[in-house]
Amino acid sequence: MEVIIIGAGLAGSEAALQLAKRNIKVKLYEMRPNIQTGAHVTGDCAEFVCSNSMGSLIETNASGLLKAEMKEMKSELIDIAYQNSVPAGNALAIDRVGFSHAVTEKIENNPNITFVREELTKIPDNVPVIVASGPLTSNKLAESIKNFTQTEHLHFFDAVAPIVEKDSINFDIAFWADRYDKGEATYINCPMNKEQYERFYNILINAERIELKDFEKNAKFFESCLPIEVLASRDIDALRFGPLKPVGLVDKRTETINHAVVQLRQDDAKKTLFNIVGFQTNLKWSYQKELINSIPGLENANIVRYGVMHRNTFINSPNILNATLNTRKRENLFFAGQITGVEGYTESMATGMLAGINMARYLQNKPLLQLPTTTMLGALCNYISSSELKHFQPMNSNWAIVDYIDLPKNERKNKKLKNEKLSKRAINDLRQLLCSI
Ligand SMILES: Cc1cc2nc3c(=O)[nH]c(=O)nc-3n(C[C@H](O)[C@H](O)[C@H](O)COP(=O)(O)OP(=O)(O)OC[C@H]3O[C@@H](n4cnc5c(N)ncnc54)[C@H](O)[C@@H]3O)c2cc1C
Repeated sequence: MEVIIIGAGLAGSEAALQLAKRNIKVKLYEMRPNIQTGAHVTGDCAEFVCSNSMGSLIETNASGLLKAEMKEMKSELIDIAYQNSVPAGNALAIDRVGFSHAVTEKIENNPNITFVREELTKIPDNVPVIVASGPLTSNKLAESIKNFTQTEHLHFFDAVAPIVEKDSINFDIAFWADRYDKGEATYINCPMNKEQYERFYNILINAERIELKDFEKNAKFFESCLPIEVLASRDIDALRFGPLKPVGLVDKRTETINHAVVQLRQDDAKKTLFNIVGFQTNLKWSYQKELINSIPGLENANIVRYGVMHRNTFINSPNILNATLNTRKRENLFFAGQITGVEGYTESMATGMLAGINMARYLQNKPLLQLPTTTMLGALCNYISSSELKHFQPMNSNWAIVDYIDLPKNERKNKKLKNEKLSKRAINDLRQLLCSI
């Protein structure tokens, strides 16, 4: 039987490849480029819409552990991400164009996948379906999902950071360094003294924002993706203790620690584009230009993409999904990716992988995989399917959601040691499960 997948984003592409390699036929629907989402700019599969970073690679970091688990479970997109990685210290950052091209080619050339470039406006009845239509699900499909889930489904708002051309950066002022000087320097840093920071802050808090539509006025922001203007409005020093923190960033030419530092991260394989870290924003573009050009080193920066704000759509998963990612109401209907209430590129791919594996197991009459909650992916799926919060909000991978580990009293305050043990336990438990099936 053929599986219908809605959306060839990060989750849908991963799910399609998981099913195809198990010899299951897939019909994968993608509405782009005919209908665009407002954030994607190509018609390619698995497009990274904002930052090009998938977060830490270190296994004692929550996001690093999730990637290690995906490797254990043979994620297809993680391999392609490694093949298209660009230098980013301890993080996995990718050349977004190379990555999406490679995924698209793999999907288009797969004999088990029929790739249909059309919007699907309704969840199909009576056939196995994976909905992976993402945070910018088309309105018609969103209506169909709303009818199925019998809830008002939720929206909240994220914002995207601008990208500038490296050749337009003034390296008499900007300098290369990674925080605490780890390995080869991969970030560009624009230092500010107190006076420069205060001038920048004043431009920022007086800048005009893009007018929100009526239904957006009570928008909630996801706390770890706050627009820079919202963060700045809390306190003059909020940015200096957040994305502009100067600690561990020393300009070797002057040996000084600055009052604040704006960091830029490589965005493409050619190393020509750099995104401004933590600068997601909803400011009007003319104000963004003034603000960016007020940063020392970026006086003449050429901005190739401005920041924008976007809608995020997700279902109320705790009432709808099992931890195996199929719905309680209909066992052959799965959800994957950001629409389930996980947040982030890696998390979206990871749930796409599990939904693909579990759909295959469902069709082969095998018990579905429920991952242990000692693993990061198991904990995420458990969180979204059983959170008791009144107002369910999306969740990244983080240590707080995995099972508690009991450590000797003298080790409890040693965070590094604790995370090492949590990470080791997760991989052991996952390997044991995978060996048993
Ligand atoms: C603007 C923006 C910025 C973000 N920035 C970051 C970031 O910096 N870091 C991070 O970790 N996460 C970020 N996210 C969150 C999230 O990680 C990404 O959105 C991720 O791409 C989600 O993966 P997905 O597969 O669920 O959805 P997507 O990758 O968006 O894929 C869904 C696909 O479904 C298609 N589709 C939608 N409706 C239909 C339909 N009816 N029929 C056919 N196709 C349809 C869409 O065109 C899209 O290609 C951002 C999200 C947005 C929207």
